[in-house]
Amino acid sequence: MKRYLLLLMVVPSLLVAQGRGGRGGGGGANANAPVTTTLLVPARVWDGTNSKPHDDWAVLVRGTQITAVGPRASISAPADAKTIELPNTTLMPGMIEAHSHLLLHPYNETQWNDQVLHESEALRVARAVNHAKATLMAGFTTVRDLGTEGAGYADVGLKQAIAQGIIPGPRMYVVTKAIVSTGEYGPKGFTTEFADMIPQGAEEADGVDGISRVVRDQMKHGADWIKVYADYGYGPNGETRPGFTQDEMNLIVNVANTAGRQVAAHASTEEGMRRAILAGVRTIEHGDNGTAAVFKLMKEHNTCLVPTIAAGESLTEQRDTSFHMPMVGGSIPTSLNRKQASFKLALDAGVTICGGSDVGVFTHGDEAKELQLMVLLGMKPIDALVASTSADAAMLGMGDRLGSVKQGFFADLIAVDGDPTTDINAVRNVKFVMKNGVIYKQ
Ligand SMILES: [Zn+2]
Repeated sequence: MKRYLLLLMVVPSLLVAQGRGGRGGGGGANANAPVTTTLLVPARVWDGTNSKPHDDWAVLVRGTQITAVGPRASISAPADAKTIELPNTTLMPGMIEAHSHLLLHPYNETQWNDQVLHESEALRVARAVNHAKATLMAGFTTVRDLGTEGAGYADVGLKQAIAQGIIPGPRMYVVTKAIVSTGEYGPKGFTTEFADMIPQGAEEADGVDGISRVVRDQMKHGADWIKVYADYGYGPNGETRPGFTQDEMNLIVNVANTAGRQVAAHASTEEGMRRAILAGVRTIEHGDNGTAAVFKLMKEHNTCLVPTIAAGESLTEQRDTSFHMPMVGGSIPTSLNRKQASFKLALDAGVTICGGSDVGVFTHGDEAKELQLMVLLGMKPIDALVASTSADAAMLGMGDRLGSVKQGFFADLIAVDGDPTTDINAVRNVKFVMKNGVIYKQ
């Protein structure tokens, strides 16, 4: 009895130490460090909204927060403030990657099946430590990591290590194993005698009891979001089919929402997307074969699209070494034609676009290629920037703390060479990174 009581007393402090229980995905600042004040002086500030950058503005940061934003002359910095000049740069919100897999590495290094079946969790975590650092240094200060793909709950520990300042990395929102219906996902193709013994890249769940238990079990292990595969290639001829019935999809969202979690749905077919949208998921991931009708439905239900253009583009690069990423203003390769068509339908329908690339399929640190590809396929640079900052933050339920350069927001700030609102390629030239008031790159 005594031991039980002691445990009860210890648990709340553990939760705080692990960066759970609060909003913000874990900043990683050292609570014992003295509070410092820094005046950042770039050439201009882009605040994360649809308005143009402001020339000659500055940003004052105290501790973990932005305390003032405005014309430099209007900001009175305290005497002990440190001034950092960032000439020729645009200071902007730290970018958000809404669809990462920190526990995967590019498929041309190791095929996905082999990562799931032949790489130990320790090996995968060791890689993920490097991936987290590369992501932060590329200017992405927050990620929503959408599945460990066979590495169990390793994303939860990775998030805790970052939040506690043990390793550098972005704020993390995690889903743990993700959910599939039985037989929907992979690795597959083994003899029938072995099929039940093959570890899967996500957790199988079916029916009322099974689904409720698995959704709750993932939350118990630390899932901030629930990720579901609304469709996948498991039809009689390997074609993509919905994974869950409408009732099952509804249940997944209902159980997650009851516990205050939102749902992200992998979906590429019209029917998979429709079921997920009607069930009330917050985001559709990929959406490659979306139709005008299904994007209209998304708009009506305020469901966001995370297009992951970079994933498809990268797989083409990996298959064909003579293929190079098309740059803004260049011709669009035929391999991106279908993506271009569905992306245009989504834009025309007024669907909210959230920036997310499916990085892990390609190299961590190259996340910004998604913004370049969004512009290549028809978005204005400022809209691609909004998608990857304030729109992502709003989708995460953090629109009042992340994704904008505003007083009272977390000091997640980056500076890029040039002006990304006129030339999106500037997001590849990150000169300065601050997360939660701590400078990681200068
Ligand atoms: Zn993914």
